[in-house]
Amino acid sequence: MSGAGISTDSGIPDFRGPNGLWTRTPGAERMSSITEYRRDPDLRARVWQARSVHPGWTAVPNAAHRALGELEATGRLVAILTQNIDGLHQRAGSRRVIELHGTMFDTECLSCPDTRPMREVLDRVAAGEADPPCLACGGILKSATVSFGQPLNRKVLDEARKAAESADLMLAVGSSLTVQPAAGLVGLAARAGATVVICNASPTPYDGLAATVIREPIGKALPELLTPTKAEPTA
Ligand code: NAD
Repeated sequence: MSGAGISTDSGIPDFRGPNGLWTRTPGAERMSSITEYRRDPDLRARVWQARSVHPGWTAVPNAAHRALGELEATGRLVAILTQNIDGLHQRAGSRRVIELHGTMFDTECLSCPDTRPMREVLDRVAAGEADPPCLACGGILKSATVSFGQPLNRKVLDEARKAAESADLMLAVGSSLTVQPAAGLVGLAARAGATVVICNASPTPYDGLAATVIREPIGKALPELLTPTKAEPTA
């Protein structure tokens, strides 16, 4: 299970870490609320501007993303359940990625099933549309991500639950584990018998469940943890 903290080394700030967007800018949470987004066109215009300059457009995977990609190549990874929207796991070579909170690279309409590449809609923003409406129905567009107040996709969550229940080990990395139902997947894995390992700089509500809690920086800890040493027999 990964969260925003795995991508901070790639230059994408998290929400709640010491340099997090919400830690530095009180009130920024409003931008992630579906109720506020539906209600306030000025806020939508600000969010479109933020999407245009999101660091995810230029970020590249870091050593931790790459270590997880290499783990998959050894056949020992059930799946990466990610809360991230930045696509960096896939760009590091991971294929079994379950995006619990969607992707920043597509848009969806709040009124009809229309989806488009985000780039296409950002071109309209650059051309002067402050809050571009859906071309199919005129509805409100947003990124294809899960805002606070929106349910997770049922099929995606079911798939994530199956993966959590089938794992021998649940490694939760770079997440404050405060956003439900994603964080609850750690508890689910533990109840199904998995050993829990948490790698996160600050405490999480699930630390008590964990066999091991690692406070080292993720970019250093994950490659060390996941790269087989010469002494370790290969599978
Ligand atoms: P969070 O901001 O709540 O928690 C991130 C945690 O990572 C913090 O506890 C912080 O201490 C830790 N951390 C940050 N950098 C670290 C490092 N280098 N080494 C060790 N620990 C580090 O993030 P969350 O739990 O993922 O939940 C927030 C929501 O924000 C998620 O739903 C996610 O969709 C969204 N989000 C995603 C991105 C992204 O896609 N990269 C970025 C910001 C927010």
